Amino acid sequence: MIGEHAFCPTSGASLSRDVHYDERGRPERVPQSDDLAPSASLEAPLTTGNRRSSRRALATHFRRCHRRHDEPNDKLYCRGALALARLKRTATGRQEYDVIVWYALGERLARDGFDVNWMAAHAEPRCPECHGRLTYVPGVDGLLGRCGGSCRGTREDRLDTIRETVRSLFARTFPDDPTPDTDALELL
Ligand SMILES: [Zn+2]
Repeated sequence: MIGEHAFCPTSGASLSRDVHYDERGRPERVPQSDDLAPSASLEAPLTTGNRRSSRRALATHFRRCHRRHDEPNDKLYCRGALALARLKRTATGRQEYDVIVWYALGERLARDGFDVNWMAAHAEPRCPECHGRLTYVPGVDGLLGRCGGSCRGTREDRLDTIRETVRSLFARTFPDDPTPDTDALELL
C-alpha cells in the first residue's frame, strides 16, 4: 500500500518514520526488520510502498496489524494466508491492488465468522484512476467518495467503483459462495 498505510511490498515490513529522498525527490523509507520480517532491510533497502505488494508482504502486514488490536490468533492467520493466496492468484488488472485484495480478504474472513472490523483501520480507499485520496460528500444513500486528486473534474462516486471491483474479485475467487451485494460489503 501507499501513503499512510504503506509497508514494504516485498517483505511486508513496516517502514521507518524517517524519510530519505531519492534523486527525483521521492520520499523513501527504510523497512524495519522485526520477528515477522527478520531480513526486511536486507531485501529492500528503501521503498515508498507499492500499490501492489507480494502475497507474503500482505500476509505479514495482516498479522502485524492484527496484533495491534488483539492476541495472536493462529486460526485466523492460517485462514487469512490461504484466502490471500487464492485472491492473489485470481486477481487481474485493478483487482490486484492491495486495497482491493484487503477488502475482499475482509469479506472472506467475515463470512468465515471472524471479526474483521480492525482491518478497516489499515487500508484507505483511493481513486482507482489516479490513486489520489478521496474526499467525501453526503449523498442520497450515504457518503460519496470523489477523487480529490488529479482527476477531480469527474464527479463519479469512486467508492462505488471500488466496491464493484472488490465484489468481482470475491466472486471470481470464491465462485461457490453467494456474491456479496456492493452495498453490503463488510468493510466498505
Ligand atoms: Zn483520481
